[in-house]
Amino acid sequence: MKAIQNYINGELVAASSGGTIDNYDPSRGVVYSTIPDSAHEDIAKAVEAAEAAFEGWSNTPKEARGAIMIKIADIIESRLDAFALAESTDNGKPVKLAAEVDIPRAVSNLKFFATAIQHFAAESHYMEGIGFNYTLRKPIGVVGCISPWNLPLYLFTWKIAPALAAGNCVVAKPSEITPMTAYLLSEVCKEAGLPKGVLNIVHGLGPKVGDAITRHPKIKAISFTGGTATGQTIASIAAPMFKKLSLELGGKNPNIIFADCDFDKALSTTMRSSFANQGQICLCGSRIFIERPIYEKFKEAFVAKTAASKVSFPQDPEAKLGAVVSKSHMEKILSYIELAKEEGGTVLTGGERVMMDGEYKDGYYIRPTIIEGLTFDCRTNQEEIFGPVVTITPFDSEEEVLMMANSTQYGLAATVWTENLNKAHRMADKLDSGIVWINSWLVRDLRTPFGGMKNSGVGREGGFEALRFFTEPKNVFVKSN
Ligand code: NAD
Repeated sequence: MKAIQNYINGELVAASSGGTIDNYDPSRGVVYSTIPDSAHEDIAKAVEAAEAAFEGWSNTPKEARGAIMIKIADIIESRLDAFALAESTDNGKPVKLAAEVDIPRAVSNLKFFATAIQHFAAESHYMEGIGFNYTLRKPIGVVGCISPWNLPLYLFTWKIAPALAAGNCVVAKPSEITPMTAYLLSEVCKEAGLPKGVLNIVHGLGPKVGDAITRHPKIKAISFTGGTATGQTIASIAAPMFKKLSLELGGKNPNIIFADCDFDKALSTTMRSSFANQGQICLCGSRIFIERPIYEKFKEAFVAKTAASKVSFPQDPEAKLGAVVSKSHMEKILSYIELAKEEGGTVLTGGERVMMDGEYKDGYYIRPTIIEGLTFDCRTNQEEIFGPVVTITPFDSEEEVLMMANSTQYGLAATVWTENLNKAHRMADKLDSGIVWINSWLVRDLRTPFGGMKNSGVGREGGFEALRFFTEPKNVFVKSN
């Protein structure tokens, strides 16, 4: 059984306590590795190493920093199959998805920020007849990155890459539920010659390791992706310490389908936006609003396609859905399906656990589920389920669907399907959402601002937004007269 280790000061080490936590393969429901059960003393060592490395790393020319990051990316790319298999085993997602999305995107994140920093410039402000200001944007120092389990290496590198490119040293914590690819990354960093202490990866539980990152006085900025409740806890501790915070939190995204849409494209993309990664993407559209003239037609086609979607073990090339990430998460999703029934919903397809055979018999599989007949403001339609469960609701006007779409505490992403250009822009303007996709879903340009409004987060990631987050601006005024 593989014993994952922390990566501190360039070395792979066990937790100071020597304790470990079991790591499950959700496709089989068995323990297949262990991770260090780290605590505040491990974070203290990581911060010490990061602090010692900061002067060297922040003074390394950005071209050289970028070159090491590209070397890391190239090594990951050369091992794409091994990384994809590791991600899939840890998370339960189809290997095909990990190979086509997760790992290539992690490689892109590293390459993107390795080069973005070469183009990053600070502002200057001229004052006529008086002088001018120039703004220095310098790395912050030691920063903390905490990431979730749904897109493990993809989201881990989305934070680490801009932090490192900008010249910071990092103390990072992957989710304890999916630690494997972060561990493989630490091996690659050693191989690529990343100087010791520049990146430290500490494994363990959120309330121990994550909490220690949040509380450490020398960690001056925290970039967090995860649940809204966890974001609240982190903010309550870090805000009074005046730490810079980037919080990417939960969502309950509307997918709005007008009668004048391109039906086939809306249908096939809705299959993905509903059930990709077992519905465990913060950007999935779990509330589907369909304009009444096409409601029955769309419902029939959507239910038929969903019922035919193969739920299978992750290595099955035919699998459209693999396992959900853990037993407790599976139970949470199933409990929401029961809640939906209690709230008056009708399960049109799915609604149950899938029992597999042989070595996968204890795995955590759920049939993709469509529910109708719920009010827009019931709990099922307001709370994040984060699984392969969507609701469908008819609507009659733009005003009505906007009211329902904007009714939740969240504001992460929205999708609009219409061939009417004016309507598309009107909807985009009025949706309370950090990201709007028109006639598409999950098309990502890494330069664009990424994040949510309302309780879906604070701040934006992506492009220069991320580089601005990971730098401290200092304005200098020069009198010229
Ligand atoms: P989570 O909040 O339970 O955990 C996220 C990370 O925070 C993990 O590494 C965890 O160990 C750590 N953590 C837990 N408690 C902590 C604490 N008290 N202090 C510090 N760190 C702590 O979330 P999850 O279940 O891993 O992920 C699912 C959630 O993430 C969903 O709500 C989803 O919408 C959200 N998400 C958001 C985005 C986005 O970009 N907005 C992307 C992916 C996932």
